Amino acid sequence: MKDYKVTSISKNLLSKLNKSCILHTVWENKGISRIEIARNTNLSTATVSRLVDSLIKNDRLLEERETIPVSKGRPMKSLYFGNNERFIIGIDLGTTFIRGMLTNMNAEPIKEIEVVTESLREPEYVLNKVVDVIERLSTSSMVKRDQIIGVGIAVAGIVNLEKGLVVFSPAFQWRNVKCHEYIQSRIHLPLFFDNVNRVMALGELTFGKGNDYDNIICINVGYGIGAGIILNKKLFYGTDGMAGEFGHVPVTGDNLIVCPCGNKTCLTAYSSGDAIAQRAVLKMKDQPSEILMNLCRNKLEDLTAKMVVEAAMQKDTIAIEVFQQSIHHLGLSIAGLINTFNPQVIFIGGGVAQNGNIFWEPLKEIIQENVFDRISTKYQVLPVTFLDRAAMYGAIGLVIKEILNMDI
Ligand SMILES: [Zn+2]
Repeated sequence: MKDYKVTSISKNLLSKLNKSCILHTVWENKGISRIEIARNTNLSTATVSRLVDSLIKNDRLLEERETIPVSKGRPMKSLYFGNNERFIIGIDLGTTFIRGMLTNMNAEPIKEIEVVTESLREPEYVLNKVVDVIERLSTSSMVKRDQIIGVGIAVAGIVNLEKGLVVFSPAFQWRNVKCHEYIQSRIHLPLFFDNVNRVMALGELTFGKGNDYDNIICINVGYGIGAGIILNKKLFYGTDGMAGEFGHVPVTGDNLIVCPCGNKTCLTAYSSGDAIAQRAVLKMKDQPSEILMNLCRNKLEDLTAKMVVEAAMQKDTIAIEVFQQSIHHLGLSIAGLINTFNPQVIFIGGGVAQNGNIFWEPLKEIIQENVFDRISTKYQVLPVTFLDRAAMYGAIGLVIKEILNMDI
């Protein structure tokens, strides 16, 4: 009896591993045939056929589409991830907005929802909003709830994935919030979450231009600043999952602004969207600016980084000075990242990066002036593929990663 149990468990494990291997092969080679899968994986054609049948009929993950014409013999069918059987929800729990997206297995969007976060309300209030967005997406007319295979969430801050905690999020002012347990107990769907910067990097690697590279760093310059590091096509977490806290790299400067973490020397206190706005407000105490006052309608508390950029484009001297300083510190720190990790590409996303040439041209110049060996250091600096939907795509990628490993 004991032997039988062991054999049975081993069989299940083997079947799971082989299915995972087939899913990875179809993911990397969409449209591949059963025979080609057997050739690529070294599994027997009989095993591949049996498991592919199960992945189509039982797991409802794959589908066979049009036949591939062949010169002789039976025509072959090609395999794809299905468009109509299984669905995924991706959530970007941002400081300003909670954005949610329902997609099929090929990450094609079916429905999107955006609500204001109100990040400084108590954690339960914000998490209830997330639950509400998930519920609204999962009751889409085209989809039954049991067809939703999982939910991915991108959240700002340091996370403990084992305990399902947001350990510390300066942007939300959260400490040890039981994010996973709270949401899971309400939605009853498989749930995966991770730090927003890592999630963005994963989205870039899974669905974006980053798929062509092995070593990439994805930097988010929005309300705060962070980075997701991918080495040899794998997310790098560091010892305690804190790798990528790029916004808290210390820089030398005037120390006029306090980073939400409490330090004054962080890059975030110079180059984040919030710091850009705060710095413009500070400067205006000595030197009023008509352009900036008009843009914020005389309410300095409403001044945003976007308005500072707009004023800089209108040649406002305060706005130009603040924005240039922010790009200077950011560029120096990115050059440091390039010199440390030697990535093929640095992708930059977040609201501050979506300002066209006024952001990209000086930034690229400062980086190039400060990389080690300007002649032979090879790197590219590119915008993230999905712009303000980058974290949502990454959250979909979190679930895809689990599906490919058959962990759902
Ligand atoms: Zn900091």
